[in-house]
Amino acid sequence: MTFFKSTLADHTHRDCAVSAASTSFHGEVKAIDSAVEEVLANIHLCSKNIHILSDCTSAIHIVTSAVTSDIHADLQAHTRDLNAQILDKDHFVDIMWIGGHIGLRGNDLADGYAKAAAMQAKHIDSVVHTTTSIKSKVRSELLRTWQRRWDLHSGTQTYAFIPKVSFTSTSTLCPSADTKRNRLILGHHRLKDRMHRIMPKAYASPTCPCRTAAQTSQHIMFHCSQLFSKERTMLMDTIEHALVKCYVPPFKRDITLKTLLCPAIQPDFNSIVQKAVAKFLFSIDLDIYPSDHSCHYVFLL
Ligand SMILES: [Zn+2]
Repeated sequence: MTFFKSTLADHTHRDCAVSAASTSFHGEVKAIDSAVEEVLANIHLCSKNIHILSDCTSAIHIVTSAVTSDIHADLQAHTRDLNAQILDKDHFVDIMWIGGHIGLRGNDLADGYAKAAAMQAKHIDSVVHTTTSIKSKVRSELLRTWQRRWDLHSGTQTYAFIPKVSFTSTSTLCPSADTKRNRLILGHHRLKDRMHRIMPKAYASPTCPCRTAAQTSQHIMFHCSQLFSKERTMLMDTIEHALVKCYVPPFKRDITLKTLLCPAIQPDFNSIVQKAVAKFLFSIDLDIYPSDHSCHYVFLL
């Protein structure tokens, strides 16, 4: 378990397999080594004094002892090397003993993960492995790792629209419509608000030609008083009809930018929205993404 400045870190824990012939003691020593590794990898986030807590006094003795252990010499040397690198960066690691099972949140969480890993290992040992089961396991592990990394981007618009990663797309649009939609989801488009931010000299103003607001995707899809009002009215009419036709409950009827770009209300309604938005994006003459080589710089951003 990792806490940064008393707060549970985003990547809360690390699973690390030790040899099948290893003892739980080896696991304790390896856990301390992994914690020191984690500290070094995130040293820019750490305070000067870093505390690593373990409830295994023997493991602490091994990694802090000046005497080289016969059995755990490699691990001991690795931990020492990592610690030397941390000291070089002017930080100090204190490896301390803490009593187990005394109601500390971090300790309880670590115990929970250790028990879950032990159960999983027992389950894996008792299962007959087939090509399909191995593929399935690899897929689920990849998905888990991907999701963990994606969760680090929880403050972005794209994360707000697509919080769960998946190997399969829920989009029913043709590739060209999908590209336009994806540009708006990612925020990698050529609307004035963005272009002014990244190229202020070439784009002197973020303001839409209607002069009422910055030209953002939200403005284009919902508010612009000058551009695409006829197409927008058709889009909103289609969505209003779909809300009724698909019996969408009133508390789900709030139409936001997420509803238009990544609808996740119910399958029949989502499909209608996706088609209507694709039609809207095709019908408007808007420079969402570059269509010729003169605009290749957009891909470099
Ligand atoms: Zn406008």
